[in-house]
Amino acid sequence: MKEPGKGPALLRSHNQRRVIAEMRRRKATSRQDLSAALSLSKNTVSLIIDDLLALGVVDERGPLNKPLVGRPKIEISLRADKLLSAGIMLERDGIHWSICDCFSVVVEEAFIPLHNHQVESVLEQLADICRTLTKAWPALQGIAIGFLGIVDTSRGWLHLSIPLGWQDVDLMGYLQPVTRLPLMMLNNVKAAALFAVQQAQLDHTSSHFYLRIAEGVGGALVQQGRLMYGDSWTAGEVGHLTVDPEGDMCLCGRRGCLEGLISVAAVNSRLALRQAGLSWESRHLAPDIVAEVMQLAGDSLGKVLSQLALLIDPANIIIDGPWSEDTHFIKAVYDSFNACSLPLVSQHTALHFLPERVAPAQGLALAVTLHDEALLI
Ligand SMILES: [Zn+2]
Repeated sequence: MKEPGKGPALLRSHNQRRVIAEMRRRKATSRQDLSAALSLSKNTVSLIIDDLLALGVVDERGPLNKPLVGRPKIEISLRADKLLSAGIMLERDGIHWSICDCFSVVVEEAFIPLHNHQVESVLEQLADICRTLTKAWPALQGIAIGFLGIVDTSRGWLHLSIPLGWQDVDLMGYLQPVTRLPLMMLNNVKAAALFAVQQAQLDHTSSHFYLRIAEGVGGALVQQGRLMYGDSWTAGEVGHLTVDPEGDMCLCGRRGCLEGLISVAAVNSRLALRQAGLSWESRHLAPDIVAEVMQLAGDSLGKVLSQLALLIDPANIIIDGPWSEDTHFIKAVYDSFNACSLPLVSQHTALHFLPERVAPAQGLALAVTLHDEALLI
């Protein structure tokens, strides 16, 4: 994430970042509690809090207790309205942006439909949104923009987006000049993974895998609070693991990818093949056929997850998709996961099926906050 010139982003020392991150986790706290939690001297914490009070990003709310001896603890908290971040998610059919406060609460959001996928036209739309948000929200600390595809986050470069038909696009070079705020380019699924792990309050010292089923299928590993990108920025792209070498042709040009078995498009086309006009939306029309198709999808996913668990041994695997309400799908995932995993691995890896979809735009806004706290590149 580049930090051009003198922006409104706060210039933070390492300890200042740690104090802000801890205050975000605790919401309300005191100088004494921060000093104990971060193993910093009370004097260091007090100096940092004085700076943050002067910058107007911290509130003092009065004494928490009245001890018989010593100084009372004064409650302090971050001013959520002064530490905003923006996430702009580009999808196939439109652009969804969210302004979030530092506790990931959405302050405002909007959806703008896309009329075509031409690189210049879409980048100009994104540039327009960046300009508008920068002007309208003076408390913004940064903007993260999410894409469907392989994104080199350190360069702000999009290598490949199959759904958009884009290749080698210099996102940062085009968009950074339009705003004084620091920008960050990220893959949508990776951003959603950050948010899913935060919302589930999973142990940030462990590793967790997030799998997202939508029009496509993607995944990301969050290890000790950090995203794993891999050497070519493709780490976690489980949608293109080969499940059936004789299977249908995938958009990536190979056969039998997981995406071709469990994505929304794949399930709908299988349902329609079994009965003309049948889709997930009209699933009540043929429950037996739907059960068979979902069982097959769940079986494929369970097998892939068992391999994944063996490779990376995550504490949790979070599955975020429209099939989380389907009992046949969930049972088949568990059955094949347990049947194909070493018992030690399956006993230590918990599967979670999210009841509500994660909004990647909130994940993108969170990425800005985590970057500011030095937890993300
Ligand atoms: Zn593929």
